[in-house]
Amino acid sequence: MVPNKHYKCPVCLKYCSDPDPTYGCWECCLYLHDGSCFETKLPPQIQHFYHPHPLTLSTTPRNVKCRACYEWSWNIIWYYSCKQCEDLGMDIPCALSVLAASTTTKSESQIQHFLHGHTLSLNKNKLDDQKVADCCVCRKGCTGPTIYVCGRDGNCKNIYFHKSCLEFPQQICHPFHPYHPLTLTLVEQNFYHLKKCNACRKSIHTFILYGHCSFAYICEGHKCDFLLHTECSTVMMPVITYEGHAHLLQFRDHNIENNKLNCSACKSNICESCAFTCLDCDLNLHLLCGPLPHSIKHKYHNVHPLLLTNSPVQEELEDETDEFYCHACEEERDPQLPVYYCAECQFVAEIKCVFSEVR
Ligand SMILES: [Zn+2]
Ligand SMILES: [Zn+2]
Ligand SMILES: [Zn+2]
Ligand SMILES: [Zn+2]
Ligand SMILES: [Zn+2]
Ligand SMILES: [Zn+2]
Ligand SMILES: [Zn+2]
Ligand SMILES: [Zn+2]
Repeated sequence: MVPNKHYKCPVCLKYCSDPDPTYGCWECCLYLHDGSCFETKLPPQIQHFYHPHPLTLSTTPRNVKCRACYEWSWNIIWYYSCKQCEDLGMDIPCALSVLAASTTTKSESQIQHFLHGHTLSLNKNKLDDQKVADCCVCRKGCTGPTIYVCGRDGNCKNIYFHKSCLEFPQQICHPFHPYHPLTLTLVEQNFYHLKKCNACRKSIHTFILYGHCSFAYICEGHKCDFLLHTECSTVMMPVITYEGHAHLLQFRDHNIENNKLNCSACKSNICESCAFTCLDCDLNLHLLCGPLPHSIKHKYHNVHPLLLTNSPVQEELEDETDEFYCHACEEERDPQLPVYYCAECQFVAEIKCVFSEVR
């Protein structure tokens, strides 16, 4: 058969070019390398660890973006697809790689993980500085000794994971989005709509823009557009409901957005280190403009009610002190932030220390 430079062999996805002998069918534009590609047996159905449903060999030509390697194949003639998930496709090399891997014994040095469609290998050697890669989960440099890599070419060149980052659960229930479970999965987004983490509001580095894959906890299968960095999923800040607002607000104890927040109530800048920020929209509130009750009873000081008061409190101003303590946790506190205060007993408590009573 005449070699054909314009068609890829569907078994290995390499071009059928000179001088490899090729089998071909003009009518279906199918070209196949002689030798191992021609002899490869394609099971009609396989079970791949990267997809919950069985995958079926398809012979209807179509454009396929492989679920495992994220590469497009145009008008490909053989591939695996899922009867239940319409747009899922997997090319032959990726689909069969799992069968080859399952015959070799699995060990700690070779693992199959729900975050990537190919077998990952443990890289015990430190990566050289020339090749500092970011972990796809935490986006921090992979400089430690225990790193898992895919090692294949193309998009997989950027697939690196810290061993510890592969221990995040696949699905979590999170108080920031109590309506649906969140799934740790690849963030795919279009060029014009940068996805942001709902907790810290920083953008997610993406595959399309940076040639880099990123994973985050996402609410899938609903129209929530809710997303959390893995590291933001482990920081448990209190959340509250706010009368008249449809979303949950989180109490943030450090101003991650560099004082760029404006209070939605009084319109002035939130320069303190604490604020309420909405998890689903851009609403931000000063602690004093927000939903905190004016007066609370607290177990640390149950003789009198504590009143929400600007800091420093009267007696601290009179003493001209430069040491500010919270009497609930007995640690130093930020004198910029409002406190709960009992003037009679001179008892001062940070808001975060009495939060459980405030909610
Ligand atoms: Zn081939
Ligand atoms: Zn593939
Ligand atoms: Zn499926
Ligand atoms: Zn990591
Ligand atoms: Zn890979
Ligand atoms: Zn975040
Ligand atoms: Zn949801
Ligand atoms: Zn909101």
